[in-house]
Amino acid sequence: MLIPVRCFTCGTIVGDKWESYVQMKESDPQRSVQEILDELKLKKVCCRRMIISQTNLIETILPYKK
Ligand SMILES: [Zn+2]
Repeated sequence: MLIPVRCFTCGTIVGDKWESYVQMKESDPQRSVQEILDELKLKKVCCRRMIISQTNLIETILPYKK
């Protein structure tokens, strides 16, 4: 689905970091997720998991919309 705007646990805004994360991941696929999250200044485990565990399913679900 869409990335949640805030971290479920601590409330830090993570929604604005998703686009940057995807762009950085695509521009250099060899780069580790750890480095990218560090550069995005996501230091807490709870915030990092919001980005790591995100799966964009919106394109999969849209055809089933009434
Ligand atoms: Zn958090």
